[in-house]
Amino acid sequence: MSRASISRNAVRVLYRLKEAGYRSYLVGGGVRDLLLGREPKDFDIATDATPRDVKKLFRNCRLIGRRFRLAHIHFHDEIIEVATFRSSAMEAPEPEEAAQEVLPVPEALPAPAEGAAEAVAPRPRPPRMLKTEDGMILRDNVFGTPEDDAVRRDFTVNALFYNIADFSVIDYIGGIDDLQRGLIRLIGDPVTRFTEDPVRMVRAVRFTAMLGFTIEEQTERALIEVRDKVALASPSRLYEETLKLFLLGAGEKTYQLLRKYGLFGVLFPHLNDWLGAESDGFPHTRIGKALEWVDACIQAGREVPPTVLFSLILGQYLGEQAGKHQAGGASALPALELAVAGLLSEQSKRVLIPRKIGIAIRDILWNQHRFEKRQGRHPLYFLRRPGFFEAFEYLRFTSEMSGERRDLVAWWQDFIKSHPPGSDGEQAEGTSGRPPDRTPRKRRRKRRPRSKPETKTTT
Ligand code: ATP
Ligand code: MG
Repeated sequence: MSRASISRNAVRVLYRLKEAGYRSYLVGGGVRDLLLGREPKDFDIATDATPRDVKKLFRNCRLIGRRFRLAHIHFHDEIIEVATFRSSAMEAPEPEEAAQEVLPVPEALPAPAEGAAEAVAPRPRPPRMLKTEDGMILRDNVFGTPEDDAVRRDFTVNALFYNIADFSVIDYIGGIDDLQRGLIRLIGDPVTRFTEDPVRMVRAVRFTAMLGFTIEEQTERALIEVRDKVALASPSRLYEETLKLFLLGAGEKTYQLLRKYGLFGVLFPHLNDWLGAESDGFPHTRIGKALEWVDACIQAGREVPPTVLFSLILGQYLGEQAGKHQAGGASALPALELAVAGLLSEQSKRVLIPRKIGIAIRDILWNQHRFEKRQGRHPLYFLRRPGFFEAFEYLRFTSEMSGERRDLVAWWQDFIKSHPPGSDGEQAEGTSGRPPDRTPRKRRRKRRPRSKPETKTTT
């Protein structure tokens, strides 16, 4: 494994910890990806320094997380995550015992997951390790040895350590073998480990798709057995996971695997029911196509924001829901708003789509009619509005799917090219939603910051 492929910042953190007398290893996906010859998404470090020790060593350090306390070392273009070696959940004392012997941890307990409330009676001192009655981990801050730390990780291929001091890879649990065989294998008893943290099931599918691996047999059986427990995971955490599922370049494959294992239905129950039904005699294939589109954008180096991702995935479903509200007498915009609000509330117990994303999805869909207006000031006004490019991505996708409105797409492509930002007297960020040449007074106000870019005027 070449040291040159490791981020300079990660190397710096590893050495600083080592020089201060701590053990420090590169861990997790970084090691896995480097061994596979892939470019790691991020670099994680494990150490025997506690989060507090780490904070003392780095000025640019912030401690985050309750369920899992971590140090984030901030550099201008990346964050290096430093975690203290932790002990395996299975060997940790039960919550009652753990509560006796803990050091005080300042923050309040995390909100317990649904169905877990009775197991978590309020305590004067928050324990470092906390599990619900049905075995789900709520807090995991029991420190341990490097070997303990390998065992408590999720998959064998994610539990390899790289020691920069002697360039060796430390493999406590057979990660190298599984890496060579292309297997995603949960460490320990798979039913217990999936139950402890159901998000691991979603991660299993992500790594399988992303790396082109297969899920090892026992892990696969356990996943199918306890998949419904994904519904117990935190909806906001599942939202973050969903972004990773679909925005890392293998979204379509991930989607097919989620469907195969019945996880898509747990994450998006209503959408899944709708997928099972046909529209006008045609099966719904749009989500797979949308994700192929997203994958192609990402492979071409274009960033796809979550708003576009969800509009592409959900647009057809929302359109049909809005149609029902219209049939019930609502006019177009309120119908769309009802559809979006309905979806957000359906999803709030599983994948919590933030409200601001919901609003942006509504705008993307609502803005589609503006592309038809090609007269007068409309096009320029629309082009300079925030959200234009997101809406245009949606138009391009739906046009490609249906084979319709190709001329419209071509017309707008020309228009965008002939009106680069700033070419009409507005600044690139002049997305005030106002035509640039309406009144001289407003124009003057706009000009001021341009001559003195650093000064803010408060007239
Ligand atoms: P990538 O960053 O490419 O998405 P990763 O494997 O690095 O993949 P992270 O979420 O960055 O994933 O986590 C870093 C490491 O922390 C993992 O490789 C794994 O060892 C451990 N880990 C993360 N999430 C869990 C979990 N839910 N249960 C157990 N270990 C976990
Ligand atoms: Mg990582």
